[in-house]
Amino acid sequence: MTWLGALPFVAVHVFALISVFFVPFSWGLVGLCLASYYLRMFGITAGFHRYFSHRAYKTNRAFQFFLAFLGGAAAQKGALWWAAHHRHHHKYSDQPEDLHSPLQFGFWWSHLGWVLTPDHEETRWDAIRDFAAYPELRWLNRYHLVAPILYATAIFLLWGWPGLVWGFFVSTVLLWHGTFTINSLSHVFGSRRYESGDTSRNNFLLAMLTLGEGWHNNHHTYMTSANQGFYWWELDPSYYVIRALSWVGITREVRKAPLRLLEARRLDRAS
Ligand SMILES: [Zn+2]
Ligand SMILES: [Zn+2]
Repeated sequence: MTWLGALPFVAVHVFALISVFFVPFSWGLVGLCLASYYLRMFGITAGFHRYFSHRAYKTNRAFQFFLAFLGGAAAQKGALWWAAHHRHHHKYSDQPEDLHSPLQFGFWWSHLGWVLTPDHEETRWDAIRDFAAYPELRWLNRYHLVAPILYATAIFLLWGWPGLVWGFFVSTVLLWHGTFTINSLSHVFGSRRYESGDTSRNNFLLAMLTLGEGWHNNHHTYMTSANQGFYWWELDPSYYVIRALSWVGITREVRKAPLRLLEARRLDRAS
């Protein structure tokens, strides 16, 4: 890891931490912070993850661009970069080639170390040829700061400095760590329903922080499923929105895991 490369990441943390003491506090701002967190988390989970990485459903070209923009506003680089690296994670889960396996390289590396090294800055084009065919997605991926800058500007124009601090900076730091928990904590804490061939786990708390991504053992078992909560009690808000969008024709061919076929891989039924 080079400290120079990690500088913007560290600087945003420090800025968020200090600046909250220089703007007036209100619970409305905390609400704005959470709304901005969950709105962009949807862009990451329903967009970057379930759509761009796993093609778990289909949509039109305009909404596809909107998902790339909304996920991009979370400041986790572009959709093509994100999805290509994520496909690589599934291909080599917890093996030496896995870029962010806590089993292979330790907790902190899986949480954020891997993002900060210059080695993983380039988009893995060979892993994302399908979506790289769209010039507007390549553009947004190349100029990946455009989405977060426009998003932050809109918040500033609507809510001024206090809004920018809480609705963008604090919210973005929480969003980074919320997303990273899936690479780190959800391969460490939680229960395992299926033999998925890796260390992935199901964790209710992480699912609530990430709009349903915490059902990570389910996800590693059947990764092209649009729903990651397989049973009604496994709350999965991203999926509910994807499903609701299908009723008005925005999403279609929403894929679901064939639970009966997965029975054989259940750990509690084995032996
Ligand atoms: Zn994983
Ligand atoms: Zn995945």
